[in-house]
Amino acid sequence: MSTELRGLNLSHRYRSGKLWRPGHPVAALSEVSISVSAGNSVALVGSSGSGKSTLLRTLLALQKPDSGVVELDGTPVRAGSVSSLRWYRRIVQYVPQNPASCLDPRMTVHQLLQEPLHQLAVSGDHRKLIRESLERVELDPALISRRPGELSGGQNQRVAIARALVTSPKILLADEPVSGLDLPLRNTVLALLNRLVTSDGLGLLFVSHDLAAVAQLCTRTIVLSSGRVI
Ligand code: ADP
Ligand code: MG
Repeated sequence: MSTELRGLNLSHRYRSGKLWRPGHPVAALSEVSISVSAGNSVALVGSSGSGKSTLLRTLLALQKPDSGVVELDGTPVRAGSVSSLRWYRRIVQYVPQNPASCLDPRMTVHQLLQEPLHQLAVSGDHRKLIRESLERVELDPALISRRPGELSGGQNQRVAIARALVTSPKILLADEPVSGLDLPLRNTVLALLNRLVTSDGLGLLFVSHDLAAVAQLCTRTIVLSSGRVI
């Protein structure tokens, strides 16, 4: 059976202002349904503030929706403790927009890739898993003892993708993974993501402003506007 991540009727409001002087709540998501399955790539587009990041955080079980459910192959996924979500995080992983802000500058590439294996209690030969993950993103193994500050922006984005891949997930959620990159790097990262979907059978939810990238990479596009799918 192919792995499928679904969000069903997700709604979320942010309460603004102070407790004693509440402002208007912001409806960031209203009844949004979405699905991504292994081997398929779905684009999520929409202007700034339309709810894309809120949807991603909700799908990642980093925040609870006010209503609606997230399901992986029919099993409900609820935001909760690290240990209760291990099974989910091995299967659904995240690629950040800005790797520099997500990669701990004190850690080496090896340590950065080892961390999710430890946290998610993945069994097996960690050295081998790390080496294979670096090969998948075509990062020179000689860089394994470097820290983020000693790598280029594109190399750090590869480290971030390798880190997402090291637990052998089935689904990747990527929040504007190419928007901080220059053109040649953008193209290399797009080619890499395309290979992960078409050759390795991963599912990809790709948030982007870059409609050319969306057209190149994705077979389905979901447009959000003011928290609704239009
Ligand atoms: P996008 O990623 O498409 O730019 P977001 O999901 O970040 O959209 O934001 C959707 C809406 O929710 C916006 O109006 C934004 O201002 C609001 N919002 C996002 N995060 C918060 C928060 N932590 N507190 C209050 N409002 C928020
Ligand atoms: Mg965003």
